[in-house]
Amino acid sequence: TIVYLNGQKVDYENAKIPVEDRGFLFGDGLYEVIHAYDGRFFYMDRHLARLQDGAKEIYLNLDFGIDNLEKICRQAVDECGFADTSVYIQVTRGAAERQHVFPENIPCTWVVIARESKGNPEEFYETGITCITVPDERWNRCNIKTVQLLANCIAKEKAKRAGSYEAIFHRGGTVNEGASSNVFIVKGGKLFTHPADNRILNGITRGIVLEIADANNIPYSEEVFNINQLLDADEVFLTGTTTEIMPVVKVDGKIIGDGIPGKITRMLQEKYNNLKQTVNR
Ligand code: PLP
Repeated sequence: TIVYLNGQKVDYENAKIPVEDRGFLFGDGLYEVIHAYDGRFFYMDRHLARLQDGAKEIYLNLDFGIDNLEKICRQAVDECGFADTSVYIQVTRGAAERQHVFPENIPCTWVVIARESKGNPEEFYETGITCITVPDERWNRCNIKTVQLLANCIAKEKAKRAGSYEAIFHRGGTVNEGASSNVFIVKGGKLFTHPADNRILNGITRGIVLEIADANNIPYSEEVFNINQLLDADEVFLTGTTTEIMPVVKVDGKIIGDGIPGKITRMLQEKYNNLKQTVNR
């Protein structure tokens, strides 16, 4: 595991954050998870653009410079030397005496952690996974990738205790997204996923899937659907940087479609895997 803290390479054990860091006190920070396959970054540009968008939303000045961050991500992956690497970036509003209002002239705290990506078990992609639905108890700005993930953690824990892989958030029956993934359904050969508004994180993988759909003449609609439509779908799958394209074969105990990964999900997985072998940016 390679760690860079505020631009400096540090030993894992010596990577220490001040006790009054606002990330620790308030969850006042943003993060990204980026993958590199065989040393090739997979749409790092989009992840860094999202980080910049999030920073604007929360009035966070990325004072270290995004180019500097990119350089260090590349360095960390090179130094890691693993085939597949997962890079975690976190930026907080820095450390200052505890008070809610933003401190002035305090530098950001920023870390880059690169480690081997072990990925999910292959069988998950082959046979599909199960999900539960849970009420979405998060705030109203889910489009910002903040480190305030307690509601997501609770949801994920509920899924685990139910023997499921993922928890799918709904508000009043309207399906939003997973605890750490976006949700797609297929009905009558068409893809549906929640519009990229304040109720979901606009996933990079979600966007890539829509681009694959475009390129292969698969119709899609970014429109809301409810739990009944989810359970009644021909196919369901999740998307995410770590999740990739994950077939869902059971939700709340109800079997989806034929109970095996569907044809369109399979096709998207194949196209996605091709991109993993070529994309480098
Ligand atoms: N939605 C949530 C709540 C997430 O935490 C994530 C990823 O961690 C995603 C969606 C998927 O986003 P991406 O495809 O950019 O990894």
